Amino acid sequence: MAVPRFKTSKARTRRRQSINMKLSSPTLIECSTCGNHVLLHRVCPKCGFYRGKQIIVPESKV
Ligand SMILES: [Zn+2]
Repeated sequence: MAVPRFKTSKARTRRRQSINMKLSSPTLIECSTCGNHVLLHRVCPKCGFYRGKQIIVPESKV
């Protein structure tokens, strides 16, 4: 079995890993009920709706 001759340094490991560590902003969509910008596949925090159904009661109404 092939054995690496040198230990991979932290700098080299991190340099390699940093290539795939692209920061991307989360996808925002408009809520179909109130038009608020919400994360995709998340319940709207403003109106508590997800896929046309009321899932949670928003805190402002309580
Ligand atoms: Zn909403």
